[in-house]
Amino acid sequence: MSRRNKTKQPNRDTVTFTEKDFLPTTRADMDARGWDYCDVILVSGDAYIDSPFIGIAMVGRMLEKLGYKVGMIGQPDIKSPDDIMRLGEPKVYWGVSGGSVDSMVSNYTATKKFRNSDDYTPGGKNTKRPDRALSVYCNLIRQHFKNTVPLVLGGIEASLRRVTHYDYWSNKLRKPILFDSKADVLVYGMGETAIEQLTSAIAKGEDYKNIRGICYISKEANEDYHQLPSHAECLEEKEKYIDLFDLFYDNNDPIAANGLCQAVDSRYLIQNPPGEHLNEDAMDANSDLPFTRELHPHHAKEGKVKCLETIKFSIMTHQGCWGECNFCAIGVHQGRTIRTRSEGNILKEANDFNKYKDYKGIISDVGGPTANMYGYECNKKEKLGTCAHQRCVDATHLCQSMKPDHSRNINLLRQVREVPGVRKAFVASGVRYDLITADKEHGYAYLKEMVKHHISGQMKVAPEHTQQHVLELMGKPGKQTLVDFKKLYDKLNEEEGKKQFLTYYLIAAHPGCTDKDMHELKDFTTNELQMNPEQAQVFTPTPGTYSAVMYYTEMNPKTREKIFVEKDTKRKEKQKQIVVKKESYASGFAS
Ligand code: SF4
Repeated sequence: MSRRNKTKQPNRDTVTFTEKDFLPTTRADMDARGWDYCDVILVSGDAYIDSPFIGIAMVGRMLEKLGYKVGMIGQPDIKSPDDIMRLGEPKVYWGVSGGSVDSMVSNYTATKKFRNSDDYTPGGKNTKRPDRALSVYCNLIRQHFKNTVPLVLGGIEASLRRVTHYDYWSNKLRKPILFDSKADVLVYGMGETAIEQLTSAIAKGEDYKNIRGICYISKEANEDYHQLPSHAECLEEKEKYIDLFDLFYDNNDPIAANGLCQAVDSRYLIQNPPGEHLNEDAMDANSDLPFTRELHPHHAKEGKVKCLETIKFSIMTHQGCWGECNFCAIGVHQGRTIRTRSEGNILKEANDFNKYKDYKGIISDVGGPTANMYGYECNKKEKLGTCAHQRCVDATHLCQSMKPDHSRNINLLRQVREVPGVRKAFVASGVRYDLITADKEHGYAYLKEMVKHHISGQMKVAPEHTQQHVLELMGKPGKQTLVDFKKLYDKLNEEEGKKQFLTYYLIAAHPGCTDKDMHELKDFTTNELQMNPEQAQVFTPTPGTYSAVMYYTEMNPKTREKIFVEKDTKRKEKQKQIVVKKESYASGFAS
């Protein structure tokens, strides 16, 4: 333990959690609370992990605080009625989520091989999450509860598949998930305000069709909303699908967006404008909910869940990301405006870790979707919402209205280090190095702070590629920014007398990328970076992303020009092998 913290011994009255500290997941849990029924039953593709990092646990705790009786069924057995029926039928609705990751992304690799492991399943074996979990769970509920209360979809699988979308695993455009799953309503995005309003409306028997942040199916079009190309038009013409995605992507901001309407067969998918973002007080209030940060004991007998190794003692400082990497769905799901928690609330959470017996003073992560977006935003965006035809950052520029300022983040990290009991607080979330080099006033100090205190031997960065035309399709910064950053990183390590490395995340077979591009990338990593990349992955076309649109249409969505797209599985793997092949190079300092 550091000298500093020797004088700041924490109060170590530790706690042990039992079933009563969780939301009920068995009939015995309900009996212990004296409940005959639940108002809402949440069903998820993950085991019940009671953590603020797990969306469905957050929804459950929010509703509990509002006074609803909430039950939770994690990973129900789909071949038997036992799990889905064990809490009875809810009075208000069923909330159904595929889990923390889209079930197809979770179950299959980029080359469509089945994944054997699952970080959200007790014991770690991938045996509990069905493909297309939302539709499977909705069928399971309807099979065992005829004419039941509404089925409400939520979570990332629902959010990214809410309009016509490209599905890599069936290699086709699929209808909005409400049509496939036959659920009644869908809450998209983070959904905090929508969930609260929707639950209240359904419980009171009120009309919920005007609530922001939801989708539903209607017999009539909504003429006031933007009209998306119909599902049939998208199937017929690839450019129509790009038109659809442009409108979908640009109407995702609570301040700037209009609603959307899409004809699907003889009915319409209606998407109301997004729900309001939470302010700092509301973000803090949600973080204060009484999470146990544990797996429910009902599951624990089957083993541990791997995800808790990283999330149990991690702190989420903010939501949202405006990085707009085209292969990533976070901006679409969480929104492109940063919502921060207050410093006091974050420090309180760090202090609360002391009540856990297994806390060793190590915070695994103090971060968010992009760690160094904490604490500043574009003033214009905060007033008028995200810009429809302009990006805050892309491969060639940072918008002048966005002024990266790491000062608040630096102060936060300094204060976290001072919390009693903290021996080390890592920043393991991704960092945008282009924002560090762009922040002339505090970027250097931030990186210094990171190098000195917050990385464990290596810092992970995600250039993803080095070829400009590929980077532009990815929406990532140019390679010169990486070179500048590396110089700064090496210099700081030298000053601090540390030998810490950079680990580079790279993507093979992204739309636009050829074998030749991978050879050029390999030359760069060997000669400029003097390293052999290990963290290279084959591109996965995730639903709800521009890169998936490129993969399907084989066009640059911006220019509508044709682009090369590697679609052969073996050749994709070959692209990866080009860059991970071991090469010898003159040994250099730090990376
Ligand atoms: S003005 Fe620039 S930084 Fe602000 S939202 Fe628009 S693109 Fe982003």
